[in-house]
Amino acid sequence: MKPMCRHCGTRPVNRPRGLCWSDFYTPGVRDLYPLPASKHTRRGPGADLDETADEKPDEPTPAMQGTLDKMRAMAERAERGVSLFHRLDGLRG
Ligand SMILES: [Zn+2]
Repeated sequence: MKPMCRHCGTRPVNRPRGLCWSDFYTPGVRDLYPLPASKHTRRGPGADLDETADEKPDEPTPAMQGTLDKMRAMAERAERGVSLFHRLDGLRG
């Protein structure tokens, strides 16, 4: 059984910090639930480059921001539970 979001308690957790998607991306909510202090030790190399990105997507999408392809790519990432954004998104294609 999936844990429920610690903020709203009604939606399943699918983002870091025990938050659901909506609450994680609601401004301010994330700040209420800081990561454990050990975040630098439990993550891989380079993980602290961007502290707002808790996970990285597998690979960048060449789709430009605002396009249907980009939205599709972001939806796929959401389903996999990885970060929506990749710093190399939109640089190719
Ligand atoms: Zn929630």
